[in-house]
Amino acid sequence: MIRIDLHAHSTASDGTLSPAELMAAAATAGLDVVAITDHDTTAGWAAASAARPPGLSLVRGAELSCRWHGAEPPISLHLLAYLFDPAYPSLVSELARVRAAREVRAERIVSLLRADGVDLTWDEVLGYAAGGTVGRPHIAQALTRAGLVGSTSEAFAPEWLGRRYRVPKAELDVFDALRLVRDAGGVAVFAHPRATRRGRIVADDLIVSLAREGLFGLEGDHTDHSPAERAHVRALAESLGLAVTGSSDFHGTHKSVTLGAETTTPGVYERLVAAASGVTPVLR
Ligand code: AMP
Ligand code: FE
Ligand code: FE
Ligand code: ZN
Repeated sequence: MIRIDLHAHSTASDGTLSPAELMAAAATAGLDVVAITDHDTTAGWAAASAARPPGLSLVRGAELSCRWHGAEPPISLHLLAYLFDPAYPSLVSELARVRAAREVRAERIVSLLRADGVDLTWDEVLGYAAGGTVGRPHIAQALTRAGLVGSTSEAFAPEWLGRRYRVPKAELDVFDALRLVRDAGGVAVFAHPRATRRGRIVADDLIVSLAREGLFGLEGDHTDHSPAERAHVRALAESLGLAVTGSSDFHGTHKSVTLGAETTTPGVYERLVAAASGVTPVLR
């Protein structure tokens, strides 16, 4: 049986395994294909490619922070982008802008926490991010170290990063992001589109519009989706001619999900690879 996991994070963003460790872990998990999809960056691609063991195919990707302005207030969402040209200028500059804004935002969250007497520093948080895309899980790590929460997920409770100390981050307009990914030869999949437990979700109308603009698929099998949510995604995808992927969204010890916990079928994977025309094919 071929096992394909198209969504995993490394220390290039908020995962806890380095790109090289992620490749080793993917092989140990018995995966045939793994995608590296760090938030708003391709910084892990080179190290992952260099460390890829024989027999493991590597799909290079990223998870883009996006926003839909069709709701009030706008809704944040994630677009998985695969096999795009990592040097495509406007995509490179947009990702750099989003990453820089993430630092300003995380530093603001740290200031708000410090103003309330929480014992953490910006240097500590930057240290946890270790040069990768900074995210709330790195602040969660400081809250855990300070003994204020027991885990990363506890740090996302409303009294912490989930609401009280939540500061919005800069995001790409989802239609702009989709166009950039496609112009860069990539393929776009809407990540965990029905994950109600993460917050507000977009209306199906948006997915209809994105399908018209060239969206490739929907991530249906994801641990944040209930069986009913998975069924909804599958039916919607079918009606729009979109592919359905399944992936773990592995984050190392920041989450409890394991690599390969959800998988994508070989048929969908082959269509995805065939749809990509970026200068960077999958490595096998
Ligand atoms: P940010 O991108 O900085 O807004 O942080 C969001 C990231 O935090 C997501 O990509 C997840 O990796 C993580 N995250 C969000 N909600 C939770 C949660 N309830 N438990 C653990 N990690 C979470
Ligand atoms: Fe994450
Ligand atoms: Fe995501
Ligand atoms: Zn993710």
